[in-house]
Amino acid sequence: MAKLCVSLTEKSAAETLSAMRGLPACVDMVEVRLDYFRQNTRTVRAGLEEVCRNKDRPIIVTNRPCREGGRYRGSERSRLDSLRRAAALGADYVDVELDSVSALGEISPGTGKIVSYHNFECTPADLEEIHRHAVAVGADVAKIAVRAQRVVDTLPVLELLERRAAAVPTIALAMGEEGMPSRVLAAKFGAFLSYASLAAGRGSADGQVPYREMEETYRFSRIGPNTTLYGVVANPVAHSMSPTIHNAAFAEVGLDAVYLPFKVSRPAAFLDGYQRHELKGLSVTIPHKEAMVPLMDEVDELTARMGALNTVAIRDGRRYGSNTDVGAALSALEEAARRAGLLPLQRRTVLLEGAGGAARAIAYGLAGRVGRLIIANRTVSRAEKLAEEVGAEACGLDEVSSLRPDLLVNTTSVGMYPRVDETPAPSSVLRPGMVVFDAVYNPMETRLLREAREAGCTTASGFEWFIGQAAAQFEAWTGLSAPRERMAEVVKKRLSSG
Ligand code: NAP
Repeated sequence: MAKLCVSLTEKSAAETLSAMRGLPACVDMVEVRLDYFRQNTRTVRAGLEEVCRNKDRPIIVTNRPCREGGRYRGSERSRLDSLRRAAALGADYVDVELDSVSALGEISPGTGKIVSYHNFECTPADLEEIHRHAVAVGADVAKIAVRAQRVVDTLPVLELLERRAAAVPTIALAMGEEGMPSRVLAAKFGAFLSYASLAAGRGSADGQVPYREMEETYRFSRIGPNTTLYGVVANPVAHSMSPTIHNAAFAEVGLDAVYLPFKVSRPAAFLDGYQRHELKGLSVTIPHKEAMVPLMDEVDELTARMGALNTVAIRDGRRYGSNTDVGAALSALEEAARRAGLLPLQRRTVLLEGAGGAARAIAYGLAGRVGRLIIANRTVSRAEKLAEEVGAEACGLDEVSSLRPDLLVNTTSVGMYPRVDETPAPSSVLRPGMVVFDAVYNPMETRLLREAREAGCTTASGFEWFIGQAAAQFEAWTGLSAPRERMAEVVKKRLSSG
């Protein structure tokens, strides 16, 4: 089982020991980055001794020079001395760079040698060769850390682990945001360990995930060779809430599965590569909803008509595309209309504000189901184009105040965090008995929804939509009933934590 190792980049032994003692038991090891210590030879020597004497779990001592991405600026001789000394003081492992291993020479028995190779530019083609070299020079653990320029660069790294890690303890990871999945999947592919940071922004390498997130969100310690893969395909992907919601859902129902953020630039290459590794399902978002459609073996009728999907399910090697945005938005809207006594919708006028991706899903869902559909957008030509596709009317946002819709749906981003004081609808439009639905889910109650509630309207929130579309994805992938309450709980928690 892969160990979780927190890389500590503290300035002194006291801070290192204090951080180490604050770590929970799920953190198996700690890397002590001596190169982050205040650089005074005597302090570093004494500090190393203090850490080795008082450690509360296995440690790796690393003193990385600048040329290998570290902070150590002193002489090579005293750098290698510090590693020999760490071994003599009982460090469990020392990390020595591939090009320094012969200069290091023998170290005290009982201390393992991690022989490491770094490439901060790219993922070179000869990973196997580098690994062989590290083993040949006496690595107890061979370590390869490379830069992923694209998410598919994680694949040769993971496949190296798959081939070699059973025979030789191996650490292989891809740095950068594109490489992040390799840090979690290290556990599936048999790595010796994966590094995590103490907290966000405190890592020793680009792309390291805080240990709490590794364990609480990704359940690192439970990942094994049979864990199935899911994820969100997007660009950018860093702020996606989907890993939080779907991993919590998998945990709640006890599925051996993990859901990752994939920062993808070329969806076809991504799908082909990851499909070799038990990829079972994807959420798809900006900018790939359209580009994914022709990559499917099958899509449902609505997806084919819209030309956009948000869900991929992979069964027996076949890719099925669907769009859970539409069904979930309609459910939220119809439920609000039912509460307001506005069903059936065929007799109602709906004003849809916005003409982007969210508007498109709702316009396709509502087309042919409502008496009158009016699409209003800041850029009128976009409203006109969408209206023509679905057989609706179009106008500019300036005409909104003269309309008297039964249902108002906002899909513009107006009112979204941080511009929470803005609203897309003048209060004169809001009349008692209307339904007002806001696609924006951050904040959960937008200014539009608050004013609508105060005006006596029935409201539906983007939060309900967001949970609904995620729950439908979960059900499409697993065939199980989605744990909606748990999903809502974790999203609420995440939204309230800012
Ligand atoms: P999008 O494709 O970028 O479209 C943005 C829309 O907002 C466009 O119609 C744009 O008008 C309009 N807009 C942006 N700034 C504006 C401003 N200052 N004044 C007036 N109109 C403005 O984005 P999207 O994917 O449709 O998402 C829109 C919102 O819906 C976001 O808040 C998103 O979080 C939310 N959403 C929620 C869910 C959910 O599950 N609850 C799902 C999808 C989206 P122009 O065409 O003139 O630029």
